[in-house]
Amino acid sequence: LTSGLETAWNKLKGEEGLTKENIVEPMRDIRRALLEADVSLPVVRRFVQSVSEQAVGTGLIRGVKPDQQLVKIVSDELVKLMGGEVSELVFAKSAPTVILLAGLQGVGKTTVSAKLALYLKKQGKSCMLIAGDVYRPAAIDQLVILGKQVDVPVYAAGTDVKPAEIARQGLQEAKRKNVDVVIMDTAGRLQIDKVMMDELKDVKRVLNPTEVLLVVDAMTGQEAAALVTTFNLEIGITGAIMTKLDGDSRGGAALSVKEVSGKPIKLVGRGERMEDLEPFYPDRMAGRILGMGDVLSFVEKAQEVMKQEDAEDLQKKIMSAKFDFNDLLKQTRAVAQMGSMSRVIGMIPGMGKVTPAQIREAEKSVKIMESMIEVMTPEEREKPELLAESPARRKRIAQESGKTEQQVSQLVAQLFQMRVRMKNLMGVMEGGSLPSLSN
Ligand code: GDP
Ligand code: MG
Repeated sequence: LTSGLETAWNKLKGEEGLTKENIVEPMRDIRRALLEADVSLPVVRRFVQSVSEQAVGTGLIRGVKPDQQLVKIVSDELVKLMGGEVSELVFAKSAPTVILLAGLQGVGKTTVSAKLALYLKKQGKSCMLIAGDVYRPAAIDQLVILGKQVDVPVYAAGTDVKPAEIARQGLQEAKRKNVDVVIMDTAGRLQIDKVMMDELKDVKRVLNPTEVLLVVDAMTGQEAAALVTTFNLEIGITGAIMTKLDGDSRGGAALSVKEVSGKPIKLVGRGERMEDLEPFYPDRMAGRILGMGDVLSFVEKAQEVMKQEDAEDLQKKIMSAKFDFNDLLKQTRAVAQMGSMSRVIGMIPGMGKVTPAQIREAEKSVKIMESMIEVMTPEEREKPELLAESPARRKRIAQESGKTEQQVSQLVAQLFQMRVRMKNLMGVMEGGSLPSLSN
């Protein structure tokens, strides 16, 4: 989408203003770019018409080049198309808030259930999950495992209990436990059918949910908007969650959902990790589509990962040159947690793409490091000297972690190198003699 639009802007370079004539070609490029991004035709038509009218109608603002002005109009119109403002989740006046998740098979419902619980937990809400996919025992296990991962209780019954009954029991349990939010995962099917819809209606009747969110897969393109429409007409939903926006989907799905169905996208999933769920910001999405880089999302993500206290704590450690294996682990995990690094880096304007191979490599080395640090005694973690001095200890760690002695030695060396580097850095800072930048 981005490259198609770039061609459009370039065609206006050197023009004096926007006219009916000179926007014909750029508008054709925009139209093509949107269609290629899988935005539905009626939406594209309305979009192009609206942008064209505004482009010709508004006089050129002084100091603004015609291509910049067109970018602005397109951007504003994209934001409008996607619903304008962020659509926040709604919470019930009296707890618990009930969130029902629906959607076809494989779109990411179960993953989203756990992600959403973690997301809300970070906002200080206590959560409980209900396993409502009774068709596959594996589906229940999957939610139980993910629930453990995010440390949120999961209510599960046998596969012989009807989803509506599970919903009733689960809700009762949630009330007894006084949780703030209950999230129910449900079964999906390959296609919309009456059985699924009836089941969802039953569950919805029992739960009386505050939010009914349809989970849709960005890879399904235009189909996503149609699905949101159908589910809304059939069971009544409050919004959508779009998953897999990290994949090579063309983004067009996110563009048309609101316009076609009248229901907003509330959250988006951008990866397989539990942290990869965020609000849907129409303005940022428009920025990303137009290739302007999403700095805001990046900054937010980085801040969240490196919590303020942690950062300060780490700084103190560095000052006292006490940086140990616990710190190394914490620091490395924080970096790994930033999710697919490629995505984060991709958000910084002017940065190149990181290849999937590079990411896999980085993630692999984090795992290797973790496995070695995990078998260290607390004393060893805090006093890396113990390992530096004792080949026997290094050998034990190698054996217990299944790594080679050489790998253990490398890790120990790495830690001391970091200490040295930090000390040097501190020396420079304390001496107040930061090298001045030459031109
Ligand atoms: P369900 O059948 O709707 O419950 O789907 P699942 O939650 O089991 O997810 C199906 C697959 O999609 C799993 O392999 C997930 O890891 C993956 N998945 C879910 N959400 C995302 C996402 O945002 N990005 C990526 N890349 N994969 C996802
Ligand atoms: Mg599932």
